[in-house]
Amino acid sequence: MKKDFTPEKELLFLALGGSAEIGMNVNLYGCDGKWLMVDLGMTFSGDQYPGVDLVFADLEFIEDRIKDLAGIVLTHGHEDHIGAIPYFAEDLGVPLYATPFTADLIRRKLEEAGILGEIELNIIEGTDSFAVGPFDISYVPLAHSIAEGNGLIIDTPYGRIFHTGDWKLDEEPIVGEPTTEEELTELGDAGVLAMVCDSTNVFNPEPSGSEGAVYRGLMKKLSATRASG
Ligand SMILES: [Zn+2]
Repeated sequence: MKKDFTPEKELLFLALGGSAEIGMNVNLYGCDGKWLMVDLGMTFSGDQYPGVDLVFADLEFIEDRIKDLAGIVLTHGHEDHIGAIPYFAEDLGVPLYATPFTADLIRRKLEEAGILGEIELNIIEGTDSFAVGPFDISYVPLAHSIAEGNGLIIDTPYGRIFHTGDWKLDEEPIVGEPTTEEELTELGDAGVLAMVCDSTNVFNPEPSGSEGAVYRGLMKKLSATRASG
């Protein structure tokens, strides 16, 4: 790929991390001269890297084209989606966009890193669209194991991308009002050029458990602890 590569009249997708691996999600969309970053996560290292705690995606591709990066949109607050922000946000130097709960987690990280004042952190409430360069983006609430799990609708002159982030269909999500199957069907019927889908254990045919079951399990455990304590 040539060094001065800039997206032309086209739509590109490039995963710098998190595809075919768990953790450090960093995705790029390219369109009309600009790149959009979706998530900036990290991975907690395991036994494979003794002495190493955190692993980050290699951002060299976008660092070489930093003038073309329009912004970073965060889908939700898990570490594998926002964990690298305090380490790279200042160097990348572009605005961040997140829903209120995720933004609060990010704000604390920036504060801890002493760079809160250096970073433009935009809080997006609701599902109205907002522009990041040539990309027109809106959040789609989806059930996940954290508050404010979101997919993204990314509209471009070349078509609509549905970028799911982490998600599941859960009739008892406990927190928030996720999009229903009907709403997702409607979204599909309206026309989606591509769905970019991220789901751990996607090849496992069993349904993932409901957050409601987790809640009941926790309550049972806690009341047993209280009774025996
Ligand atoms: Zn997640």
